[in-house]
Amino acid sequence: MTSTLTISHLTKTYDGVAALSDVSLSVAPGERVALLGHNGAGKSTLMKVILGLIAPSGGEVTVCDAKPGQAAAREQVAYLPENATFHSALTGLEQITFYMRLRGQDTAGAMELLERVGLGHAARRRIGTYSKGMRQRVGLAQALIGAPRLLVLDEPTSGLDPVSRRDFYELLDGLAADGASILLSSHALTEVEARTDRLLILSGGRMVAEGTLPDLRREAALPVAMHITALNGYDSDIMAALPNAIRVGEGLQISCTQEEKLATLARISELRGKVVDLEIIPPSLEDIYSHYSRRDGQ
Ligand code: ATP
Repeated sequence: MTSTLTISHLTKTYDGVAALSDVSLSVAPGERVALLGHNGAGKSTLMKVILGLIAPSGGEVTVCDAKPGQAAAREQVAYLPENATFHSALTGLEQITFYMRLRGQDTAGAMELLERVGLGHAARRRIGTYSKGMRQRVGLAQALIGAPRLLVLDEPTSGLDPVSRRDFYELLDGLAADGASILLSSHALTEVEARTDRLLILSGGRMVAEGTLPDLRREAALPVAMHITALNGYDSDIMAALPNAIRVGEGLQISCTQEEKLATLARISELRGKVVDLEIIPPSLEDIYSHYSRRDGQ
């Protein structure tokens, strides 16, 4: 299957300073990909290159079989900026009708687009009276004009409440099921982990990790913590048997590598008469994210 977006060995420098270095990636039709990275990692720069707003310093970028910025690419790519602003005096319907005209589309479908993003009821109200979540939906309706093959969404859910976020991702699921590719940036790791197919992590302009969360978890090989609650009075016995254990709150904690996990469990199991409870704590999403996006060398 041909990729909707292919990037190979992309570099972008601003006055000699590298914002992107040797970045390669591809996004297939129907795929939902999350782009993660701390402030200044290069996410916006990457999006600007894909949209054809800035030229790469090196490497190849192909968007819907065209070069970024070419008419064939622009027709098929939609963009939702992080803080989309609209004319507050226009109604949602007027704003979307206006954008449809700009894109040379039949404006008869404006109301249907607004209904699709859950704004049908407010379509004839001025945008100035909309909540943040409603304005974000106007942005999404704008991005859906012309049934784009690639949606580039810059932190699309920032500022949305949990219900609006869920609605938003359900809408994206439907678009992806119809074959659209989605590339979205986010700082909300927990959220994108559950709602996208693949994660890309940029750090200092380099692609430092790529895969599903289980892939990244495996590759990072971060330690696993085990929290042990001792039967009254047996703390010292357990600490003697497990010299690496430390006191954490009311209990004891021991850390081990993924490989040592079963052996450690076996040792704890030998102490079963002295242990009330055991909780295994895998590395959190934040631990994994920090592992990959640490600011080494910046
Ligand atoms: P954020 O999460 O804060 O939006 P980001 O991951 O989108 O960050 P970019 O905005 O792409 O990061 O910035 C990447 C690097 O490029 C940063 O070091 C930034 O200072 C630099 N940069 C971005 N735009 C320019 C510019 N026009 N001129 C010079 N440097 C720039």
